[in-house]
Formats: sequence, C-alpha cells, structure tokens
Amino acid sequence: MIRCDFTSKLFFLLDSCKSIHQIKQVHAQLITTGLIVHPIPTNKLLKLISSSRFAPISYAHMVFDHCPQPDLFLYNTIIKALALSTTSSADSFTRFRSLIREERLVPNQYSFAFVFKGCGNGVGVLEGEQVRVHAVKLGLENNLFVMNALIGMYVNLGFVVDARKVFDWSPNRDMYSWNIMLSGYARLGKMDEARQLFDEMPERDVVSWTTMISGCLQVGHFMEALDIFHNMLENGASPNEYTLASALAACANLVALDQGRWMHVYIKKNDIQMNERLLAGLIDMYAKCGELEFASKLFKSERQLKRKVWPWNAMVGGFAMHGKSKEAIEVFEQMKRERVSPNKVTFVALLNACSHGNRVEEGKCYFESMASHYGLEPELEHYGCLVDLLGRAGRLKEAEEIISNMPLTPDVVIWGALLSGCKIHKDVEMGERIGKIVKELDPNHLGCHVLLANIYSLTGNWNEARTLREKIAVSGKKKTPGCSSVELNGTFHQFLIGDRSHPQTKQLYLFLDEMAAKLKISGYIPESGEVLLDIDDNEDRETALLKHSEKLAIAFGLMNTAPGTPIRIVKNLRVCGDCHLAIKFISKVYDREIVVRDRIRYHHFKDGTCSCNDYW
Ligand code: ZN
Ligand code: ZN
Repeated sequence: MIRCDFTSKLFFLLDSCKSIHQIKQVHAQLITTGLIVHPIPTNKLLKLISSSRFAPISYAHMVFDHCPQPDLFLYNTIIKALALSTTSSADSFTRFRSLIREERLVPNQYSFAFVFKGCGNGVGVLEGEQVRVHAVKLGLENNLFVMNALIGMYVNLGFVVDARKVFDWSPNRDMYSWNIMLSGYARLGKMDEARQLFDEMPERDVVSWTTMISGCLQVGHFMEALDIFHNMLENGASPNEYTLASALAACANLVALDQGRWMHVYIKKNDIQMNERLLAGLIDMYAKCGELEFASKLFKSERQLKRKVWPWNAMVGGFAMHGKSKEAIEVFEQMKRERVSPNKVTFVALLNACSHGNRVEEGKCYFESMASHYGLEPELEHYGCLVDLLGRAGRLKEAEEIISNMPLTPDVVIWGALLSGCKIHKDVEMGERIGKIVKELDPNHLGCHVLLANIYSLTGNWNEARTLREKIAVSGKKKTPGCSSVELNGTFHQFLIGDRSHPQTKQLYLFLDEMAAKLKISGYIPESGEVLLDIDDNEDRETALLKHSEKLAIAFGLMNTAPGTPIRIVKNLRVCGDCHLAIKFISKVYDREIVVRDRIRYHHFKDGTCSCNDYW
C-alpha cells in the first residue's frame, strides 16, 4: 500500500512544479521511494510532463516505458500527450496499437477520442479508419465523445464530406458536434454549406457565431461578417475576444471606422479582457482606417500587453502601410530590445516598410537576418518583398539575380513585382523579357499583361501596346467591374463605374462636374494612359475616367459630410493612375484626408500627397 501522508505530499509537490528541474526532483523521489511502480503517481507525473511547456516529449516516453505494468489510464495519458504534441502525433497511433496488441487491454471512449485526435493531427486518415473499425467492434460507434472526435479528425484532415456522413448518421449530437462540423466548412471556405448548417442549428453559442464571422472574413465577405456580428448581438449572444478580433478585421478591410470605434467602446463597456490579439486587432483597424496616430497611442498605452508578437506586427504593419518606414523600423528595433521574437508576418511588414521608404540596404540586412538571427526561412512572400524593394529602387538586375538564385520556385507575383519595377523605371527590354516569362507561367494573368501593355504605352510603343491590349480583349477575359463603397454613419453606399442607381445620382453627377472644374483650375490634368480596354472607344476618355467608382464614392462622401471630415473608401480593384492623381488633388482642394483601400494596399491621401509615395 502507498503511505497516504507521504504520497499526498509528493502529489502536492508534483502539482506545484514550475520547471523541468523541479519535475525531475520529484521524479527522483518517486523512484527512491519505489512509488514509481504504482500507476497512480506515474500517471500524475506523466500528465504533468505532457502538460508542461518545459519537458520534451521523449521524457514522457521514458517515464511510460519504465512503468512495469501500464494500465489503461496510463495509456490514455500518453496517447493524449502524443496526439496533442506538434512533433510526435504519429506515436499516438503506435501506442494505441500496442495497447490492444501487446497489453490486450480494452480501449475506452477516451482512448478512441485521443487517438482520433492524433490521427487528425497528422497521422492520417487510413490509420484513423482502422481505429474506427475497432470502435465499431466495441460498440462505441454511437458514443457521443467518440463520434465527435471522429468528426474532428475528418475535419482536421479536410475530409469534410466524410465528416458530414458521420455527423448525419450520429444519433446523438451536442453543440460541439455542430460547431466542429461548422468549422469544417468554414475552414475550407465553403460558406454556403456553413450558412445552411448554421441556420439548421437547434441552438448556437459564441463559438458557432465566431466560426461564421471568421469564415466570412477568410473568403473576403467582410460585409456579411459584420452582418452576422450584428445579428449575434441582436440574438443576445455575447462576443468574446476572438469574435471581436474577427469583427475588427472586417472593419479594417472595409475601412469602416465608425463601426470599428463602436466595437472599441463595446469592449470597454462590457469589461471584455483586453489581450494581445484584441489589441492587435484594434491597432490594425485604426491604422487601416487612417487613424495612425491613435493606433500608435493605443500601442504605447498598453504597456502590459507587449509580450506576444501580434501587437508589434500590427504596429510595424501600420507604419509600413502609411509609408512611415522610419517609425516602422523603430518599432521593430524596440521589439528586439524587449526580447519579443519576431515571426514571418513581422518581416513581411518590415520589408514592406523598407520598400516604401526606399531603404534598400536596411531591407537587405533585415532579409538576411531572418535566417541567420531568427531561424526563419524566408518564404515566397519575403522574396516578393525583396524583389519589390530592389525593383522600386531601380536595381532591376540585382532583383532578377535574386529571383534566379532563390531556393523556391518563383511565382507570378514575384515576377510581377519585377515587372512593375520595369514599368516604374521604363526598362522596356527587361520588361518584355519578364513579361514573356509571366505570360508562360500564367497566360491569363491580366494584371501583368496590363502592366506590360502600360510599359509599351509609356515608352510610346503604341503598336505593341495596342496588339497586346487586343490580345487581352480577345482572350475573353472579362474585367471585374470596379466597385467602391463608402461608410456613412455605419451604413455602406456602393458605387459601380458610371453608376446611376443611387437615389442621389442627379446631385452626384452635378457635383462631379463641379469637382472636375475645380481640380482642373488647381492644375490637375487627367492621365489617360491607363484607361483600360473595356471602355468603349467612342466614349470620351476624360469623362470615362471621371466616372471611375472611387471618384463617385469620394464625391458622394464630400457631398454628405461636414467640411474636414475624413473620407474612407474601399475599392475591389487596384486604383488607377488617374484616380490616384485626382484623389491627391481632391485631398488638397477640398482639404480632406482620404483613405482608400484598393485590392493591393491602403492609400492615405492628405494635403496633395499619398502615403504610398506613388508606388503601388
Ligand atoms: Zn480610376
Ligand atoms: Zn497611394
């Protein structure tokens, strides 16, 4: 028998272990007292090791292997530990097999649930299905716990149809079953199926609502994400920090400051605990809505929430998108001093900052430090940033060399970055060459073809330009129509190119004419070089440019807001050169700050200049 008082002391010690060193001390006590042969203390030790951040999984294996007669509980503990580990989930299946074959123990619902978890974490679907056969044999196929784990396994591996079959057959379902199925659809971006299931749910909790909101976010349905968020509140459900972080991201993408601010107030009013993720969401939202100073103030004021990387990333990214490379670099250097480890997202933001600030040498150094200092292998996105950095600076040859020597296969985005460098620096020879590569890689890449056509136009090769444009038209690629929206008092107003559907159309077009006249007086000359193909040739190009959706949305914003109010626009396509120029003039003539989020990036216009420094 185990001596009770001594055992309980050891148990107490086990519970209070704070480091691997302390765990090992108690482990030694268990060995010297002989208690280690008993499954209960061993199980407790094993649980502690597997839940501890400090102990390696090999330690758990060793403790388990030294137990002379492991019982089912011990097996379940090791299977669970392995299933949840990022590196050894495969071993959970091996241990499960030896539980049955070598020990001849009968697995219970927990054994199945844990091994299914392991299978979903990377062991594989075939092994999972072998396990499933055992569950059926033992009559556990209708056990709620086991079924949920099986659905979870299929969902994790992306087999959403199989997951649905199990879900549909299952006679018992609880909230968890519905939520896991819902997340299966949402993760794959199958939002129609998710919506259907969501509507069928007998009841919903905060996880169900959050899954829907983040699913919409992932597929770019930002307005729908906000609609669901408001629905959630109307239904009396309380959002948590994950819900709010997703809803804030939707606001950031819609440049919807009014709603974003409302959420900030909601967080304060409802005493929702601020954490790093939520803080990052707020900083990102304010920065993207053009409130960079406020974002920076918020970042500085939350001294306690700087241990994790997210708020830092949001702040570096915020400065980068506003072209404030010096400030972005300062934040990164401060991050280094405070010993917060950067991740891959940090470097995308940092390299972008260098790119927009024309800081070539610093950018190159940071790029190299990724692998040498932080053990982060640069990915395609980082190479894209580096090529962009060199391309903008006119170091086209060097950029091309980087592409030729990189260990990953360059994609169309990277070549496209070089191509836009060729456009900026009017290098027709290289532009043509790179253009051909792009054409081969992706014959339908409209963006790059237009870029190449524009290179020809800029250098006066009208024939080449026309031939290419005709080709683009013939290839049957219909351009997505430009669409811009503006938020007024929490409501979105959308405009298409040449739109006449809005109730205020008449006033709007009168205002546009007046605006065109004012801009002309101030020195604005329409840039027609980039007017794209789908504009009818008979139409006056200047008029066509005037009707671009972002100009309509801005005019509408100017008409309906008090002088001095900033205007925020979202556009689904890249803003054209003429609109960019016109908006710069508008910001000066009307003395307004204008934030435009286009498909590529954020532009913050103020006093006749743009945060992108005309590179975008
Ligand atoms: Zn335009
Ligand atoms: Zn810009």
